Amino acid sequence: MGRPGGHHGLSRPGRAGRAAKPTATPPADSAPPVQQLRADEVFTAFATSPRGLSEGAADTLRERYGPNELPRPRRKGVWRRFLAQFTDLFALVLIAASALTFLAYALQDPRDVGNLQLAFAILGVVVLNAVIGFVQEYSAERTAETLQAMVPHTCRVLRDGERLELPSGALVPGDVVVLEAGDAVSADCRVVEAHGLSVNNAPLTGESAAVARVGEPTASDTALDSRNCVFMGTTVVSGSGKAVVYATGATTEFGRIFRLTDQAPRQKTPLQREVAVMARRVAALAVAIGAGMFALRLQTGQSLVSAFVFALGVMVAMVPEGLPATLSVSLAIGVRRMARRQALVKRLLAVEALGSTTVICTDKTGTLTQAEMTVTRVWSGGISHEVSGVGYAPVGEVSGAEELRELLRSAVLCTDARLVPPSGSEGWRVLGDTTEGAILVAAAKAGLHPGTEKEAAPRIGEFPFDPVRKLMSTVHRTPEGEVLCVKGAPQELLARCIRIRVHGAEQDLTAPLRDGVVGANDTMAGKGLRVLGVAVRPVGEAPRTAEQAEAGLTFLGLIGMLDPPRPEVAEAVRACRRAGIRIVMVTGDHPLTAEAIARRVGIVTDPHPTVVTGSRLDGMDAAELDGLLAEQGQLLLCRVSPEHKMRVVAALQARGEVVAVTGDGANDAPALKHADIGVSMGATGTDVAREASEMVLLDDSFASITAAVELGRSVYRNIRKFLAYLFSHNIAELAPILAAAFAGFPLVPLTAVQILAIDLGSDVLPALALGAEPPEPDTMDRPPRSRRERLFSAELVRRFLFLGAVQSIGVCAVFFWQIHASGIPYADFTSSDPAYRKAITLTQAAIVVSQFFNALAVRTDRQSVFSVGLFSNPRLIAAGCFGIGLMAAISYVPLLQDVFNTAPLAAADWAVLVAFGVLLLGAEEVRKWWVRRRAVPATTGAPSGAPTGKEAAR
Ligand code: ATP
Repeated sequence: MGRPGGHHGLSRPGRAGRAAKPTATPPADSAPPVQQLRADEVFTAFATSPRGLSEGAADTLRERYGPNELPRPRRKGVWRRFLAQFTDLFALVLIAASALTFLAYALQDPRDVGNLQLAFAILGVVVLNAVIGFVQEYSAERTAETLQAMVPHTCRVLRDGERLELPSGALVPGDVVVLEAGDAVSADCRVVEAHGLSVNNAPLTGESAAVARVGEPTASDTALDSRNCVFMGTTVVSGSGKAVVYATGATTEFGRIFRLTDQAPRQKTPLQREVAVMARRVAALAVAIGAGMFALRLQTGQSLVSAFVFALGVMVAMVPEGLPATLSVSLAIGVRRMARRQALVKRLLAVEALGSTTVICTDKTGTLTQAEMTVTRVWSGGISHEVSGVGYAPVGEVSGAEELRELLRSAVLCTDARLVPPSGSEGWRVLGDTTEGAILVAAAKAGLHPGTEKEAAPRIGEFPFDPVRKLMSTVHRTPEGEVLCVKGAPQELLARCIRIRVHGAEQDLTAPLRDGVVGANDTMAGKGLRVLGVAVRPVGEAPRTAEQAEAGLTFLGLIGMLDPPRPEVAEAVRACRRAGIRIVMVTGDHPLTAEAIARRVGIVTDPHPTVVTGSRLDGMDAAELDGLLAEQGQLLLCRVSPEHKMRVVAALQARGEVVAVTGDGANDAPALKHADIGVSMGATGTDVAREASEMVLLDDSFASITAAVELGRSVYRNIRKFLAYLFSHNIAELAPILAAAFAGFPLVPLTAVQILAIDLGSDVLPALALGAEPPEPDTMDRPPRSRRERLFSAELVRRFLFLGAVQSIGVCAVFFWQIHASGIPYADFTSSDPAYRKAITLTQAAIVVSQFFNALAVRTDRQSVFSVGLFSNPRLIAAGCFGIGLMAAISYVPLLQDVFNTAPLAAADWAVLVAFGVLLLGAEEVRKWWVRRRAVPATTGAPSGAPTGKEAAR
């Protein structure tokens, strides 16, 4: 894949798809390739500086080189995609059926115009299904694109010396980007500064091991083989650094190998596969029934052609052609609704898993809390100092500020975040980590100026924060010599301290002094504060590893910050509890802080929850961990690292749980990938986590997970609703045909063209409307669906058999009532008989009207449909009215009367049909009432643990 660096070392990218334009700054082909230059030469070559480009220069360059985007994959033409719909299995079967019917028409003598109509009607079904399939596919694609565009892709860039967060598309050659662990690399760059930097080049090279990157020149011929270049599409695994962009968009290595087609086949979800298999089985059954009908008609003395055409019509009507499309539409609607509730689902698969989630492992900071930190206490030398003021505005007082200057100064030096003054409508903001932002604000309140302090003691080395060490340290050049500043989790920090500073005097960290610090930490954590310790030490020789650096430290004090819970979380937690979903808090924070927050949001209500720390997890074997997770009590996992999270997720899954897990850091990726639903953060969080996850929360809030679970559950239920609706009507179509055949009635009570009209007019639209039903009010009052539960549950089958049976009774009743009322003997009926025409019109209308009521009945599973409002799904009402309107037209419009062999119905007929529909609704209401009644004793006896619907609802 490599190419000679000399060709492109300094060559500049062109706009996607165009040849590179001449460049403004040293484009000379004779210049050495970018990887062979020294850092200062790189800056000169790209007319930039360690302060980055100026905004003006960046604008000019963007105009010249275009946005940093890959060319969009070329899509198949609209027509080709529409025509592809006709190659689907069902479509082919139907086209063959239509052709056979046409053949029957052509060969028959005399020709029966009805067969020609049937042939066209079948084609009509094919075209309608193709249109629905096409629209669905198109809109699903648009949804996917819109969702993709909503996932934030940003990068940190230096412009005019300012560190900005910009959309990746805004990068131009010459930009200086800041790289940190978890970042996605947005363009091809030459590293000029690296601190323990390593990247994963797997998307380019297939090699997934992390590879180290350095800032020094190399002798390598190709950039791809150079240890000082990073490439678009790859990710930063650890460390930090700065790099100069040398290629953007299509001219990057990734752009070159990026195939311009949508080669990834669209994956079907297990649900879609199940429905496809089921639809095929039903189709096979339809063919069998058709064959049976054919034999039956032949026996009753019909001609070969008419028996064949009849059987074909029945078969075609029973084929569930629209089913897969309807399914995809309802999944896509679910995805869109989730996006509206701030949860971006990347694959349809996630919708299903969400609906059956049994455990949510959640982070604390940002997900349960607002991540808007305010330092309220600083402890030093045995004294706790209060800090007043809220938010990021540096307005407030620090009691005994003089005493705390050194502590706050060291903490400030060890931060990467930046405090941004108000501009426009925005108030004070923090760029970067909010924990660090809070420290800057507290320091400012104490009279320090973070910018000035950082300038006075320039950073010459660093060991970035990592959630396993739970520490961060930086090395600074000061007039007093080189100093290491460390901040992080107090326990971890204290373990590396040997001395402590008390009122400016340094002393050995004796056991009582150590206990004093631990006590102060516990007091703060017990109040729910997030506590960070700060320590320093002079360094002689630059330390090489974090372990070397973070040893023999002098402890300065503790900083405690408040992170208020998100207001919406408590309600979401209650909803999860009602829904039988267990919440396990997994946090890197102190157990006392974790418990205080967990209590505030309602995750912990027991007086004695199980609190397990990462180090205790380390000492557990698989069986012990399994035993811990088997206890259904309230569980808090504290001071854990991402590796622990991964272990817990795997152990929960081994217990058969469906696990949703949140994560924001780069090291969370394995747990996110392993979980059934990996949930990452859109507002904060790293690119790596977002890539590894199935779902991105735009607002980072736990409440959005709950909302997504509710929608996931409702999607599944909606699918069952339209399945019940569709299958019950198939029974109602088949029943009168069989009844007439067995009663010895020579004609059909429903012709094939009529069946197709029902399928076209009253089937598809209400099914789609059912797929878009909003969640039922009791959606979160029931335990999660079992993973083993199939879509075609006994409950679903019972349901459509019940509805189909009631419908069939009514349909058969009106038909035979009309036949008997005419007083004509069975054998004397002809198809042109007005009584017969009226009877088959009644049969068709009975199905259409009862389907309208059926659609209303299936809207709720157990609850009375009146509890959700009979007319609360306007789309369904409109679809039903359309079906009835079409039926009226078939009954009254002379042209349609000829086509369908129908007759005008009287007002009394309609009244009977509506009365019957109401009866159907009533019968279903009684069934639901019965199910509700029966559910009560079953649930009160349920074991403790996940509450079942009834218990929870109380
Ligand atoms: P959660 O996993 O619930 O979001 P968390 O944010 O506390 O909790 P981590 O980000 O892994 O989890 O942090 C673990 C610990 O590391 C924190 O409790 C804190 O003491 C320390 N810490 C967090 N951020 C920093 C930082 N920027 N610099 C130094 N130490 C930090």
